[in-house]
Amino acid sequence: MESNSSRYANRCVVCGKPARVNVGASSYCLDCYNHLTDYLVGVESPTNDSYSILALDPEGHTVEFAVERFSFGVTSVWTAVEQVPDDDPRRSWGYVGRSVSVAVNADWVSQEEALDALMVKTQRMVGHASLRATPLTTDQMRETSVRRVDKVLYVKETGVARIECDEDGRPSVVVDGQRLSPEQFVDALSCYEGFDLYWQIRDASDEPPEWL
Ligand SMILES: [Zn+2]
Repeated sequence: MESNSSRYANRCVVCGKPARVNVGASSYCLDCYNHLTDYLVGVESPTNDSYSILALDPEGHTVEFAVERFSFGVTSVWTAVEQVPDDDPRRSWGYVGRSVSVAVNADWVSQEEALDALMVKTQRMVGHASLRATPLTTDQMRETSVRRVDKVLYVKETGVARIECDEDGRPSVVVDGQRLSPEQFVDALSCYEGFDLYWQIRDASDEPPEWL
């Protein structure tokens, strides 16, 4: 069985916290890596305060996000990561949570402006439901693989999915915080049989489309 010490065997060479970034033979936590990168390119590091963002989902529930920053030198990517506890019952049907990112230039955007931009984008993304749930019928029991307890999930006419591999390295998409396998995603699209599907790939930190 894996112990806590082996889980975090890779520790930051500066402060000893669990490492997130490897540079050559050295490992760093995100804070120390960001400070090092900021220092090397001569930009001012934001303070190390921990931020959280609250957003409202379409059902009026408050969703909590933790904010993390990843410095690439003059550009930083700020990401809001939804907090989903390990014992959250939604995890049993594949709920992994949402993440929302913005990329900002540290030379011309302050920390406050970056957080503002992240808050606005997070509310836009969280406020739009890309899936809809309908009661499961006996026919669908056989036909669809994408269920949430006693509901079956279908995509809405417009939506957003994050393309990312699951824990086993298999391709999947995350829609409204829920991980769907390729088969589940196609099942969720099956309500539009006969229609055309247009798509557009955007960088995770790009502006959302107009309709969102
Ligand atoms: Zn550190």
